Amino acid sequence: MEDGLAEGRRRVLVKLSGEALAAPDGYWLHAQTLATLADDLARTAATGVELAIVIGGGNIIRGARMSQAGWIDRPTADSMGMLATVMNSLALETALNAAGVDARTMSAVSMPTICETYARQPALHHLDQGQVVLIAGGTGNPFFTTDTAAVLRAAELRCHAVLKATQVDGVYSADPKLDPTATRYDRLTHDEAITRDLKVMDTAAFALARENRLTVIIGSIHAPSSVQAILSGHSPSTTVAP
Ligand code: UDP
Repeated sequence: MEDGLAEGRRRVLVKLSGEALAAPDGYWLHAQTLATLADDLARTAATGVELAIVIGGGNIIRGARMSQAGWIDRPTADSMGMLATVMNSLALETALNAAGVDARTMSAVSMPTICETYARQPALHHLDQGQVVLIAGGTGNPFFTTDTAAVLRAAELRCHAVLKATQVDGVYSADPKLDPTATRYDRLTHDEAITRDLKVMDTAAFALARENRLTVIIGSIHAPSSVQAILSGHSPSTTVAP
């Protein structure tokens, strides 16, 4: 089927949107959803893949949207968004620990009484020790998204790929919900992803991936054992690579 993760390439940053933790009825956090996700990640880690994880905060707050209402400025709303990613990371850390995985949250926004502060060398050390590292707080700066944070951390932690596990099983030529003739791309270059203005990831994230020649794999979080299946090439996906 698709490429998945090539043999011998074993450190992956998984980017999950905050919505991946939500209940089917939309409630922001759902224990069973977390347990299912943690089980998938545990199975993936058991295959020898070293995992760094970045979770968004969109199930709670997206700063750009919140600030549009006019009563709060963008940097403050973004700060709240970054805090939301810490809550999500702590929830997934708990679910991973319950699934028998040694996981720890590191936050780019320093809050030492709650979790470790993100720094590159300790994060590399934890990954080398086989721990799953949840990287919270985005980039630590407003006006960015956790997609950009994911690519940034993947580049500095020497990850072989970013897996963006999302609502769709890859990148399509048109919106498959509106256009039945839409086809899924198996592969795209970074240039193609940027010039076609694909909405699946923001341009800043794709540009950073291009600069670092970093592979981005896009697949669906809704498939059974999504992460494991996409990385092993058993689930459809789109690979964006040089
Ligand atoms: N955010 C930020 N800087 C970052 C990453 C995130 O300010 O480096 C804020 C921003 O407000 C964003 C929110 O955190 O909307 C949640 O992240 P994101 O929208 O990427 O979450 P997702 O859509 O992946 O759930």
